[in-house]
Amino acid sequence: MDDELKFPLSVYIKLRDKVSGFEKVLYQSKYRDVDHVLYQWIDGNYSCDCNRSLLLWDWNGEKTLECSSGENQIELISIHNAKTGEVIYG
Ligand SMILES: [Zn+2]
Repeated sequence: MDDELKFPLSVYIKLRDKVSGFEKVLYQSKYRDVDHVLYQWIDGNYSCDCNRSLLLWDWNGEKTLECSSGENQIELISIHNAKTGEVIYG
């Protein structure tokens, strides 16, 4: 099965660093459905500053923020469906 069928949901993710105010919109095309993307960003790998910092600053693993305990430094602002524009989060 090709990725388009297996992971049909592509999204725009908007992140913001609370310290510097730096914002970035990411494109990701690897989700099965709305529950999958919300899980990853609320409870899964992307809920933590260590992984969010890699995506926000393109550090390629050289440097990351510490794991967030409770409140994130890198805030998830919004998630939109990249095809329809529908708001998934935010
Ligand atoms: Zn972490």
